Amino acid sequence: MSKDKPSFQLPAESLTERVARWVRPEIRALSAYHVPNAAGLIKLDAMENPYGWPPEMLSQWLETLRQVELNRYPDPIARELKDRLRTAMAVPPGADILLGNGSDEIIQMLLLALADSQQTVLSVEPGFVMYHMIATFAGMQYVGVPLKADFSLDTDAVLAAIAKHQPAIVFLAYPNNPTGNLFSEADIKTIIQATPGVVVIDEAYHAFADESFMPQVMDYDNLLVMRTVSKMGLAGLRLGLLAGPAAWLDEFEKVRLPYNINVLTQASAEFALQHAEVLQAQTDQIKQDRNWLDQALRQIDGLTVYPSRANFILFRVPDGQADVLFEALKAAGVLVKNLDKAGGLLKDCLRVTVGTPTENTAFISALKQILV
Ligand code: PMP
Repeated sequence: MSKDKPSFQLPAESLTERVARWVRPEIRALSAYHVPNAAGLIKLDAMENPYGWPPEMLSQWLETLRQVELNRYPDPIARELKDRLRTAMAVPPGADILLGNGSDEIIQMLLLALADSQQTVLSVEPGFVMYHMIATFAGMQYVGVPLKADFSLDTDAVLAAIAKHQPAIVFLAYPNNPTGNLFSEADIKTIIQATPGVVVIDEAYHAFADESFMPQVMDYDNLLVMRTVSKMGLAGLRLGLLAGPAAWLDEFEKVRLPYNINVLTQASAEFALQHAEVLQAQTDQIKQDRNWLDQALRQIDGLTVYPSRANFILFRVPDGQADVLFEALKAAGVLVKNLDKAGGLLKDCLRVTVGTPTENTAFISALKQILV
């Protein structure tokens, strides 16, 4: 063994200093995505479908899982699942499909493929937070154009921002999260035509909205439509879909990790889509209950309720009361989402997911008791 001294000396530094030296400053500046502990609470914070499956369907599903070979890698292209999704989501002929481990992963794949520190991801504020977060992970610039006070698109401002920043990609959620509204179709078309890069219409809440850009996905060179099964009652599976022209999707496919859709997800999603009528009945129920919840909230003095086309409702509480109300609801056993800290147009806003009729009633009575 050589007794020579090493030719270089590692700097004397603490663990904290070492981490700080190697992790990118923009990542150190972030906070990890926080998911609150919902144990023992009525969970109305995350836009989940509150329903399980009928016992007979559960047994059939478990029977299906019995045949899954856990020792084998999944089908890398998930051919059968894609076929089922194509039918279930009415993907037009000629459009290709890319699958992600949740639509969050699709956003990540898109930005990884487009990443360049000079390039811009553009969306609206308030909007879905992951567009901004993943832009940061990928080392891209992010521009969030404020919505108008009624949460409609400020199309002139979006067009001006597009002209200035020449975005590589524009994300618009349709309906929007966390506001719940659908933007004007005509405005979105104008934006698609003005965007130099690609426009992703994120239809995570499509099941509750009855409107879609999916039929038009092949009518433009730069339109992609994203969906997820999360809000249809399958949030635990982590499965999202992007539809659009092969010319784009072939490139994004290159950054997809080979087996990103695991065997249990493939088998379970295929099974669930064969029982689409069960999921559809649950969605119909949630839509009805959204109307009930909307009316019940509107009858409470001091709240401003925003119309929703999704499975959640955004409402504004009296000035400065959001934190107190959020905590009081939690103490009463109901977890909603407090958006006040995001500031801007979301100051004093809470968001509630539509639950079962019993959960919705519990939420409304807790809120009434707190507000009297
Ligand atoms: N897009 C929007 C607008 C969302 O609100 C969400 C989830 N909250 C997602 C995408 C991500 O959905 P998932 O990763 O569960 O498919």
